[in-house]
Amino acid sequence: MAKYVYDFTEGNRNLKDLLGGKGANLAEMTNLGLPVPPGFTITTDACRHYLAAGAVPDGLEQEVAEHLDALEKQMGRRLGQAHDPLLVSVRSGAKFSMPGMMETVLNIGLNDESVHGLAKQAGGNDRFAWDSYRRLIQMFGKTVLGIDGDLFEHALDALKGRRQDTDLDAGELQGLVETFKGIVREQTGKDFPTDPREQMRLAVMAVFDSWNAPRAILYRRQERIPADLGTAVNIVAMVFGNVGNDSGTGVAFTRDPGTGRQGIYGDYLQNAQGEDVVAGIRNTIPLEELERIDKRSYDELLGIMETLENHYRDLCDIEFTIERGKLWMLQTRVGKRTAAAAFCIATQLVDQGLITIDEAVTRVNGDQLAQLMFPRFDGGAAKKKIAKGMNASPGAAVGKAVFSSERAVELAGQGEDVILVRRETNPDDLAGMIAARGILTSRGGKTSHAAVVARGMGKTCVCGAEELEVSTRERRFTAPGGVVVSEGDLISIDGTSGEIYLGEVPVVDSAVVEYFEGAEPEDELVKAVDRIMRHADSARRLGVRANADTPEDAARSRRFGGQGIGLCRTEHMFLGERRQLVEDLVLASTGEERQAALDALEPLQKADFTEIFRAMDGNPVTIRLIDPPLHEFLPDIVDLSVKVATDGATDKDRELLAAVKRLHEQNPMLGLRGVRLGLVIPGLFAMQVRAIAQAAKEVPGARPEIMIPLVAAVQELESVREEAARILAEAGVEALIGTMIEVPRAALTAAQIAEAAEFFSFGTNDLTQMTWGFSRDDVEAAFFSRYLEQGIFGVSPFETLDREGVGRLIRIAVEEGRSTRPDLHLGICGEHGGDPDSVHFCHDVGLDYVSCSPFRIPVARLEAGRAALADSDSDTR
Ligand code: ADP
Ligand code: MG
Ligand code: MG
Repeated sequence: MAKYVYDFTEGNRNLKDLLGGKGANLAEMTNLGLPVPPGFTITTDACRHYLAAGAVPDGLEQEVAEHLDALEKQMGRRLGQAHDPLLVSVRSGAKFSMPGMMETVLNIGLNDESVHGLAKQAGGNDRFAWDSYRRLIQMFGKTVLGIDGDLFEHALDALKGRRQDTDLDAGELQGLVETFKGIVREQTGKDFPTDPREQMRLAVMAVFDSWNAPRAILYRRQERIPADLGTAVNIVAMVFGNVGNDSGTGVAFTRDPGTGRQGIYGDYLQNAQGEDVVAGIRNTIPLEELERIDKRSYDELLGIMETLENHYRDLCDIEFTIERGKLWMLQTRVGKRTAAAAFCIATQLVDQGLITIDEAVTRVNGDQLAQLMFPRFDGGAAKKKIAKGMNASPGAAVGKAVFSSERAVELAGQGEDVILVRRETNPDDLAGMIAARGILTSRGGKTSHAAVVARGMGKTCVCGAEELEVSTRERRFTAPGGVVVSEGDLISIDGTSGEIYLGEVPVVDSAVVEYFEGAEPEDELVKAVDRIMRHADSARRLGVRANADTPEDAARSRRFGGQGIGLCRTEHMFLGERRQLVEDLVLASTGEERQAALDALEPLQKADFTEIFRAMDGNPVTIRLIDPPLHEFLPDIVDLSVKVATDGATDKDRELLAAVKRLHEQNPMLGLRGVRLGLVIPGLFAMQVRAIAQAAKEVPGARPEIMIPLVAAVQELESVREEAARILAEAGVEALIGTMIEVPRAALTAAQIAEAAEFFSFGTNDLTQMTWGFSRDDVEAAFFSRYLEQGIFGVSPFETLDREGVGRLIRIAVEEGRSTRPDLHLGICGEHGGDPDSVHFCHDVGLDYVSCSPFRIPVARLEAGRAALADSDSDTR
């Protein structure tokens, strides 16, 4: 028969799935011989059964009764017995901690008779007994009976007046119990249940039910905790911190969760119970002061904290209670910590000999590293908050508000810090986004253009601040309360919290970035990051390259540890003043005119490539030939139509408009772009390949790799490849020629495509769009939030690679590509290359490298190291 109940002596910390975190760790502490009040745990299995069937599983009540019997025998008291009652707490405890999300009821077993028995146990302490009783009704009323907790709070406040709860005497507390009972009667139409076993039974079910309380559901969604785990329930013999001043309750960390420093970090409250410490009903005292109050318990506690750290080999947090000079442990778990503390603690534990450096690398993660790389606002500074948007890309940025990309570039060029403010951004704003310290939009979510691009650049961004009325025409925005910010006014935006401030808030730079930029590690945190990064690098199998199009990005990527460029886009080489030449190219009516336009572009592109090769200093540079549809390089159709409709339009304007109309596409993403463009416009790709070859000749050691985008069939690749190979041979330059795999058909026919490709690079942005049939720009704003809410996916497939769908295509392409060409070189160059989970996937599937934005390179290095160490871990197990 199924076993649904485990005594604390039966469990251990590895049983979190079954016993929840709290139960598993209570069992672990019990088995370590620490002073834990006896008790037992009802499993998450029982909860899942209850939630699915609407009733507890057969046999559960019997099993609980047996364990309660045993507990009563051990304690020498029966639950709620009138003259000498045993009291218990009924505590929730899921696999992952969900702080404050679920329910706990203390002092179960009290009623009008047993309250006297409890007083007798405490040497005639009536005050304590009535205090415990009023707490039971309050907690039970709120949690189990669903009564608004404020009703009890208000009654308590009214009685207290300006006194503290400890000033209430027994008579007053007894009166309060009557008041509370009245509230219960009034709110539920029934009397407070006095049968101790009934109290316990109802509390257990309330804990089960709390799994599906709206706030718990919301929390799980945010934290990506699966919805079907259920919670365990712990029944624990009560110990009392509210018996008097020789009693109390506290919480502590075994070291500072903010910095990792060792020491005593905790709070203590005399004559108090349970939640009082965190609820802030009275001022707590620092844990150190316990030494003065009760030295014996204090010393014992420090000893236990050391035992726990050595046993868990990590920072732990704990809850404890002292009952008349006797210390009891009520909870422990590996504690949450800040990103900075995570790195420091990991290396401290290595130095203490508690963990290996391998393990230290697995104890931190890329998200934490990324957090450490953003500048922050000085916490102590005064701020005037004017609005709040979404925290799209972390960091802190201060600058003058500007409302157009051009103005951003202009002011930044004069050495000013600017914040680019737009209703929403589009690819035309790119130059301004690069020039700005931060980006603020009033529309669009965390996956909007502004957010995605900003994250990729490591630039602070607050998006979707809907309270702001942005007028780009009048160059100003209005915030609630009539605050008007005009061009040139200083604002500060916090991409970590989404907050927007008027004026300048002082910013502190990230020491971790300075270290990646080449500064010697000095403080403890940077030294810890340095050690962990070095070890991650030595452990990883994946190479890490950068997506970089400019010499500046290329150079930064080298400093950040990139081993080459995995994606050098060439689009920008057709922009700016060169648009003119693209227009000529499009308008060319003869082969000669077309060639003339291409010939004019070639030296310009050659110069660009030369600079990038120099910056990369002998590391490979994968250059993607032009990818987007041509109309992106031409004037906007509306602007042009207006111009042509008014006087002063030239013949060229009219021709251009005709061309733009001709090139107009319903679905440009699925239209004339990538390799298709190369095949349709003779000489275009050849011009780029020649520019690359000539540049490579000029830079000794240059290692170009030529990458053809959007290939779906080997036939497309073959003719482009032949031409490119011929040009390279003529120039006497060696370069790999390969293709992006970003169309599902390419993945599915990888065996054929590999015949014409020396490398594959998975373009997972397009591959995700095409696999899901999503047009990214359309779907993200339109319904992604809905999809996330409904749990259709837990995270956007553009953020984290969809292993089941897109990942399956990648697996197929890897296997089949390598079957054709065993030395096929494999990489990824979508945004996923810098996403922690996706990096692990790339490692697992056997890619050779990931490529990501320069700013994400350290994250990718760390995660690649963690992925490799996770492998070796399972080998030895
Ligand atoms: P949470 O998960 O919200 O921390 P807990 O189940 O840990 O809830 O309980 C809330 C408070 O009650 C904690 O301070 C805990 O230490 C205390 N508590 C729980 N069980 C007992 C008990 N048997 N005796 C004394 N205090 C208890
Ligand atoms: Mg707790
Ligand atoms: Mg693409």
